[in-house]
Amino acid sequence: RNRAERLNRPAPQQQRQAVRFEDLPEYKRVATQRIAGELLGVANPFYRSHDVAAGATTRIGGREFINFASYDYLGTNTDPHVAESARQAIDRFGISASASRLVAGERPGHVELERKLAAVYGVDAAVCFVSGYLTNVAAISCLMGPQDLVIHDEFIHNSALAGIKLSGAARRLFQHNDVENLENILKSLSSEFRRILVIVEGIYSMDGDIADLPALLELKSRYGFWLMVDEAHALGILGKTGRGSFEHFGLDPRDIDIWMGTLSKTTSSCGGYIAGSSALADILKAEAGGFVYSVGLSPVLAAAAIAGLDILRSEPERTERLRRNGQLFLEQAKAAGLDTGISMGHSVVPVIVGDSLRAAQLSNDLLAEGINVLPIIHPAVPEGMARLRFFITCNHTEEQIRRAVAVTAEKLRSLLDRNFGLASLDV
Ligand code: PMP
Repeated sequence: RNRAERLNRPAPQQQRQAVRFEDLPEYKRVATQRIAGELLGVANPFYRSHDVAAGATTRIGGREFINFASYDYLGTNTDPHVAESARQAIDRFGISASASRLVAGERPGHVELERKLAAVYGVDAAVCFVSGYLTNVAAISCLMGPQDLVIHDEFIHNSALAGIKLSGAARRLFQHNDVENLENILKSLSSEFRRILVIVEGIYSMDGDIADLPALLELKSRYGFWLMVDEAHALGILGKTGRGSFEHFGLDPRDIDIWMGTLSKTTSSCGGYIAGSSALADILKAEAGGFVYSVGLSPVLAAAAIAGLDILRSEPERTERLRRNGQLFLEQAKAAGLDTGISMGHSVVPVIVGDSLRAAQLSNDLLAEGINVLPIIHPAVPEGMARLRFFITCNHTEEQIRRAVAVTAEKLRSLLDRNFGLASLDV
């Protein structure tokens, strides 16, 4: 008897081999895209390395660019007040919170930041997590379970989808911003669910349009669901003083059950938050795995976010400048015949160009002209809907915006005759 038999194990030739990563369909998709790019001479536009803090302008490889690829919508990332607050926090607390707040305790910044976030929404409490992504995953998976139903706009962010999946709740999607479609789903529900959660975004990150909160609240009053609004792209942007969607529509923010947002954009930090009732905050702090079992927000990032929020509250003119810039970009782009989809010109304006590789080539052509803007390609958007996504900031000048639109229109025209479909390649 050989050794395998003696040990009562299958003979070596019958042993199971682990699947090679190279053989995964996921890898084949990535490789096909790379080969197609190489064959068509389209360089990879992603992961460009910046030499400086990237805002309305940036430097890449020693060269200056007008930049439309930063979420620093309000220019707070390089503000001296933010930097000084972060420095003071380093001196006092070091960099890390070192462990979960449950175990390692809190720093004053955690409490102050959560108090200030709650004040923005006029609600009782807020809870911070270490990223916006984690916030959605942790909160949704904590509040919902297999007996529940989540209904969401078809365009919601991947992090919310991940949270729903983890929760085990049933999931239905409604057509983008189509409140009638949502109502039809609510009317047609055959089974009894313990809880129903509807998730939308204040400003949609791929398209730059907004949720119809008044209509959603009206539905909520009749169908009794929780409403969750992801304000990642709306805090500091919508509303006269930048308090977001509720201010834009003149609503009472306490009528929305769950406010969610990120600290990485207008508040120049990293992290995310949920704001709402004290009971909601208490539940998340006690039960959400992404809070209980993950490190607390770095005290440095908490300090930076507090300073970012202070700027947002004390300098509403930044929000006003951003609004003017967004409208100028949208007007100019439409006048130049560019397809800006359903964008309303707030913080995000896409220019839809069709094939993924055309979007990548256009991004490279604009880089050659001193303009940095990134493509969004399949699978983030459906194939054929690839786009350049322009993030507008309050610090872009009128001249930068006019030039960016004119050069984009010109470069796109010269690419329209070229076939970028993968079908045109034998790969
Ligand atoms: N929600 C939306 C709508 C987003 O666009 C993003 C990221 N851009 C997130 C959540 C996640 O936020 P973060 O990048 O802070 O993790």
